[in-house]
Amino acid sequence: MKKWAMIGTWRMALEGIQEGLDMLSKGETSGDAVETAIRMTEDNPYYKSVGFGGLPNENCEVELDGAWMDGDTLAVGAVASIKDFANPVSIARRLSKERFNSFMVGKGAEDFAHKEGFERKNMLTPRAKRMWELKVQEIKEKNLLSPYDGHDTVCILGVDNKGSVVSGTSTSGLFMKRSGRVGDSPVSGSGFYADSEIGAAAATGLGEDIMKGCLSYEVVKLMESGLSPQEAAEKAVTDFTRKLRRKYGKAGAISVVALNNKGEYGVGTNVEFSYVAGGEGEEAKVYIANWVDEKVVIELASKEWLDKYEKRIKTPIEELK
Ligand code: ASP
Repeated sequence: MKKWAMIGTWRMALEGIQEGLDMLSKGETSGDAVETAIRMTEDNPYYKSVGFGGLPNENCEVELDGAWMDGDTLAVGAVASIKDFANPVSIARRLSKERFNSFMVGKGAEDFAHKEGFERKNMLTPRAKRMWELKVQEIKEKNLLSPYDGHDTVCILGVDNKGSVVSGTSTSGLFMKRSGRVGDSPVSGSGFYADSEIGAAAATGLGEDIMKGCLSYEVVKLMESGLSPQEAAEKAVTDFTRKLRRKYGKAGAISVVALNNKGEYGVGTNVEFSYVAGGEGEEAKVYIANWVDEKVVIELASKEWLDKYEKRIKTPIEELK
């Protein structure tokens, strides 16, 4: 049992979770720790699927989705398809305080954020714009029909020393998505869920498929039935991947993080998936999960893996080609 803990999707959650765990160790709330952690990811221009530096849609516009769930009250707030705001997660948290109109999209959400004084920012970086230009060129040259590679969501779950559990998400969704496309990340039950009586979960991967299974709610329900976070996350993703293949003919990449109110955590995935976790007495570390023979195999990220990652996200675009 850990008095506090956090888990987040992908290596990009590292700096935020380090900061969040420091906050939790000083007695701050899981709400503040999770919001800070996601904001740090949103603000980092090198993370190309979240916030500033996120990859644009087919019209070269950065359209962002984000969500918040307070496990003490079950309050949910979410935004989808918003442009030109620095921190979607904070707008979602603010919306979770609303009895009505708590999930807002597009211009309505932007008007709300403006009136509430949230920071406006042009979220398109020169690097993301260049990646868009190269993708447009590649689509033409190779006649790509499905140019949606390059997506990830930062999902962060936290529990504090009062047992309050929170789930938050933020993403730019699929690279080259159609304007107005929304994935699972701002959709309660699919992209995220939290209930302090049990725990929390959140998902990353192909939103169109995650939404077919309401996977985050499923993981929390499995934890309620007595499964550990690792068992619940792994069972939900593995069973659902099998079902999708059987009924729909294919399954996209899906990964889920889970945390219970005792500070135990786990992941499910059907691809290679990096994540960050830590808690009381345990510093934040980066792990790599793989799905081998339909079982999740987890290892600590090696120094070589971490160095390669660091180098890749900062390499000038032209050299990546
Ligand atoms: N789930 C996100 C979406 O579909 C993308 C991701 O997490 O990879 O928008």
